Formats: sequence, structure tokens, C-alpha cells
Amino acid sequence: MDSSNHSSLAERLKTEARRLGFELVGIAYAAPADGFDQLQDWLARGFAGEMAYMHRQNEARRHPKSILPDVKSVVMVGLNYNPSTISREPAASAGVAPIGKFKSALAVGSRLNGKVARYARGADYHDVLREKLDRLLAWVRDEIPEANGRGVVDTAPLLERDFGRRAGMGWFGKNTMLINKRLGSYFLLGALLLDTELELDAPFTPNHCGTCTACLDACPTHAFVAPGQLDSRRCISYLTIELRGPIPEELRPALGDWAFGCDICQEVCPWNRKAPADSEARLQPRPELEALDLIEVLGMSDEDFRRRFRHTALWRSKRRGLLRNAAIVLGNIGDRSAIPPLEKAISDPEPLVREAAQWAIEAIARRADLSSVRSL
Ligand code: SF4
Ligand code: SF4
Repeated sequence: MDSSNHSSLAERLKTEARRLGFELVGIAYAAPADGFDQLQDWLARGFAGEMAYMHRQNEARRHPKSILPDVKSVVMVGLNYNPSTISREPAASAGVAPIGKFKSALAVGSRLNGKVARYARGADYHDVLREKLDRLLAWVRDEIPEANGRGVVDTAPLLERDFGRRAGMGWFGKNTMLINKRLGSYFLLGALLLDTELELDAPFTPNHCGTCTACLDACPTHAFVAPGQLDSRRCISYLTIELRGPIPEELRPALGDWAFGCDICQEVCPWNRKAPADSEARLQPRPELEALDLIEVLGMSDEDFRRRFRHTALWRSKRRGLLRNAAIVLGNIGDRSAIPPLEKAISDPEPLVREAAQWAIEAIARRADLSSVRSL
């Protein structure tokens, strides 16, 4: 195939990707990942915490050929998940009194609801991305029957943000997110690895963070050790989703009312202020995930949890992780009406839930004591 055909194939592939709902699409060359050495440093410093898969799959992240041996092109796609119906709450730390040495992430006026990160408020994005990538690959095979390819979502060992930058999509913000000038950072990355040579996009080289430090300043757990360097062990997303054991006590108050994930360092980013809303119906927030009913979650059996969360991103935390988070957020909210369900949770079969419930009861009691002292 001559180069003019390659070029037109790239353009038609991009048109098809946009038709499938990917608002961003770019093509990167299949060479070792630019950020592999930084990843080694990050892992060596222990910043991955207990995410053992990051170590297990480490070598595989060096080059996309670990996923597709004859890979020639990496088609990067971005799926906007910025909800069109969201209540645009301010950065949660604004106007909230500090708890201990941390700023609280607890929003003023919240009651017994927990917050869920935006990407997780609709259907499981893995399913949505995979289905679209399969359709894109089917389109490529219609065009080039001998082509081989593989769709990749974040479960495969690809340094997606590296390839997104190389495909011209945007720059790495100080909050570690890939930021696009038009979409901001509320988009999900996927990749289609192909053994076909395609016309490449130019890598994105400028950085438009400038002197801004809003994300670094707003993080309630001080998880950024430097601009662009995240210690996951302190990040609420890691603590509420990836961590299987108890959340360190000193970090619990800083969770505020985040029950699954955290968006604070994206909410404060000026590049997200005018980000357009997405058009993918399956990613639109479901009311019950926009405001997670913590008492209801705390009372869920395994079967309830499966029925409710099986096809959502919350499935990842497993029942015991989500109930742990719900108990801690109830402790942070400090409403005494949560005590009876928390007392019930003290006999939960999972030690993780029992311990968090006990902590929450004590946190509510401490808060009640403080308020009675204040009213004297
Ligand atoms: S997601 Fe939340 S806790 Fe994690 S770095 Fe961003 S602001 Fe900090
Ligand atoms: S908040 Fe500011 S520093 Fe942080 S990623 Fe956005 S523009 Fe960059």
C-alpha cells in the first residue's frame, strides 16, 4: 500500500472514531513509552502503594509490542465523560474548616450522601470503551482484511497518557492528568493497537499549566510530592478504590464525603471550567450514583451489592471496600442518625467494615462532644 493510501486510511479511521463518539483521536508511533523511566522511579519510591499489578506488569509497559507483537501504530481515542447534568459543586475545600492538619474534602451542607468520582457515575466505562474500540477494529478489518489489532482499555499494560501526548492530544498537567485544550481532563483514554502503518500525528509538546498550582493547593491529602508527581498512597482515589485494607486513620478525615474516588484536583483546574458535556448516554450520571445513599450502602448484602453495582465502576472496590468507605464518610459527616446503622455494621462479617464502623461511631461521638462543649 502506498503512502497516500496510508494517509487517507488514517483520516477515514479518525472520521469513523468520531462517528463512534470518540471526541479525541490521534495516532502515535509504536515505540518505547517516553515515561517508562519515570515509571521506574515512581515505583521505586513506593508511590504505587499496594497496586501489585503495577509492579507485575511493569516490564510490559515499556513497549506496546508486549500487547501486540507486530504493532506499528497506536490509535489513541478519548471519550468525554463530563456529565451534562451535574451539579457544579465548588471545590470541596472552599469555605470548609480544616480538620487537623488536613483540609477537609467535605462539602458544606451535605447530609448522608457520599460522592462518587464523575467517571464512575454512569455505566462501567470499560464496557463502553471496549464496545466502541471493537467496532473501530471491525471497521479497520473491513478496510484492510489482513490487519491485526487489539483494543486496549486501562486493564492492559500501556502507558496510555504517554501515547495520548504522543498522539497530539494534550499535555501532562501538574495533577498528572492528560489535559486537552478543548476537553480539559474529563475524558477516558482508550487505544487501538494496529499492525498497520498509518500517518502519525505530531506529539503535543507545549505545557499550558503555566504558573497555576490550583490542583496542588486543593488536594486535601497533600498527595502531590511535586508538580506532576503523585504519591498514590495518599490519594483518595487510591484509598477508596485500590486499597484493600484499612484506610490509614490520619487520612480518613480528609476523605470528607468522597465515597468512591475524588475529582478535586480536576474540579479546580481552569481547563475544565468550559469543558463541553459528553454525549454518551451510558456515561450520564445515574441519580443513585451522583449521591450515594450511605446508609443504604452500609446495609447491603453481597447480593444487594452485586445487583446494584455489577456493571458500574464501583464494582472494583468490592462490597467490603465500599462499605468501609461509606462508614468513614458517615464518620466524617458526623450526623448522629448514622449511629444505629453503624452499630449494626459492627457485626458485619468483614473485619474491614467492622473496624471502619467502630471508627465512625467514635468520630461522631467526638464531634458531638465537641459541639456540646461549644454550646456551653
Ligand atoms: S484525586 Fe483527590 S486526593 Fe487524589 S491527588 Fe487529586 S485531589 Fe488529591
Ligand atoms: S489546576 Fe492548574 S496546574 Fe493543575 S493541571 Fe490544571 S492548569 Fe495545570
